[in-house]
Amino acid sequence: MTTLIVLGAGGDLASRLLLPGLADLLVSHHGEELDLRLVGADRDEHDQGWWTERVRTAAESAGASGPSVDRLVATTRYARTDVAADGDLARLLADAAASDVGPDAGSRSAPARGGGDVVCYFALPPSVTAAACRALDPEQVPAGTRLVLEKPFGHDSASAAELNAVLTRLVPEENVHRVDHFLGKSTVLNILGLRFANRLFEPLWSAAHVERVDVVFDEDLGLAGRAGYYDGAGALADMVQSHLLQLLALIAMDPPATISARDLRDRKAEVLRATRLWDEDDPASCTRRARWTAGRLGGQDVGAYADEPGVDPSRETDTLAEVVLAVDTWRWAGVPFRLRSGKALGRRRKEAVVTFRHVPHLPTGLLGTSSPTRLRIGFGPDDITLELDVNGQDDAFSLERSSLRTELSPGELTAYGQVLLGVLHDDPTLSVRGDTAEHCWRVLEPVVQAWRSGRVPLETYPAGSGGPPGRGLLEDVDAQGCA
Ligand code: NDP
Repeated sequence: MTTLIVLGAGGDLASRLLLPGLADLLVSHHGEELDLRLVGADRDEHDQGWWTERVRTAAESAGASGPSVDRLVATTRYARTDVAADGDLARLLADAAASDVGPDAGSRSAPARGGGDVVCYFALPPSVTAAACRALDPEQVPAGTRLVLEKPFGHDSASAAELNAVLTRLVPEENVHRVDHFLGKSTVLNILGLRFANRLFEPLWSAAHVERVDVVFDEDLGLAGRAGYYDGAGALADMVQSHLLQLLALIAMDPPATISARDLRDRKAEVLRATRLWDEDDPASCTRRARWTAGRLGGQDVGAYADEPGVDPSRETDTLAEVVLAVDTWRWAGVPFRLRSGKALGRRRKEAVVTFRHVPHLPTGLLGTSSPTRLRIGFGPDDITLELDVNGQDDAFSLERSSLRTELSPGELTAYGQVLLGVLHDDPTLSVRGDTAEHCWRVLEPVVQAWRSGRVPLETYPAGSGGPPGRGLLEDVDAQGCA
């Protein structure tokens, strides 16, 4: 039996993503393989009914029902635990290893239970997680325990390295699962199938044929009540440093021999090690930061980010970040990887776009201007589109743009269902390895420093617009000498 402890059971992540993902996993065909006990833990004095209801509601929100969910709801236990209090977390871990957690623990009527695996999911504020791990002694962590952490993993490469040292003092690296739920999205995993199961793309997947790669995650939503977290992070740390760099790694890495934890993560680490800011001496030429001002979003007036409750305007938090990166390998030398993410934008755009180079010669007699072939991988809607030039319908010698598009099925599991499957199966393939967590901060350190020192001005854009005025890095990268 595996005991899954969710620390931060009362938080947003647990109720909105984690518990629905778990329910989704249980009703999938993987559910039968799982012998699971769920323990919710938080620092507040909740009763058992509060927790049971929370688990039930989360399952309903995922549309998950059936005997496996009923069993989860019936057997789950709440254990009040303040991870900042001396000994609380160690006790919880020991009880979980003895399968002895919850209100009936230790009571005469409670049936005797054997021990089993323990998975400890830190759905806590990152600083609380780090302090709790620092306070644990290795001998307080039962053998085989998996520690599951949410991003951000540190706040720069030094703190990511320090966190790694703390974690690997407690458990081996293979037992640390650093969650980036993008890696559980079926469309993101589709990059592997698309690239490595088709003869078509891999021979063209290099600087010889690719002009640039764009990874864009523009949202048409604002803070959705998460000012407390977001104002301390911003778009660069929240999106680019984590999710978008993981996408870059999957797009740019060399083919792994197997999709196993070691091979896949080795290939990703290798390419991230070779990744750097396009021009480290001139960050203003290859990064942009901006913050939304009052505007209209989804047909409604929206105030400025700086006026949102819980926001400290003096922090100058970026709600839109753009960076151009270089990957210093034979395969990618000279190809700009342009990453952008923003909130409160007029157009939702979530995709990776590979733009191929122009043909070396357009046969004389073909009319019109040829445009580069583009491969678009959409992350919502989930689709793949290949944009091509073909002969026109009216004049057979006049070029027209055409698209081959396929929609991707959503996959059986939600991203969190997929992440939890890996964690519960003791398979870290989709987890961010410690060295990679450090690389991701290192890549963006010159950006953070340049932004902090004011070398790159904070621009503004009205909510609901396309971003700051002027041409962004994604449009005028050639003009800036980045291509
Ligand atoms: P919340 O602030 O909503 O929840 C954190 C929970 O931890 C609260 O229930 C809080 O209790 C509890 N807590 C705080 N201190 C302690 C303590 N000493 N002992 C026990 N429990 C404690 O945060 P989120 O759920 O939003 O985020 C959790 C993690 O997940 C963060 O690392 C975040 O970056 C990450 N994440 C969140 C996402 C989201 O959409 N929410 C998405 C991706 C990652 P109390 O209410 O009493 O403070």
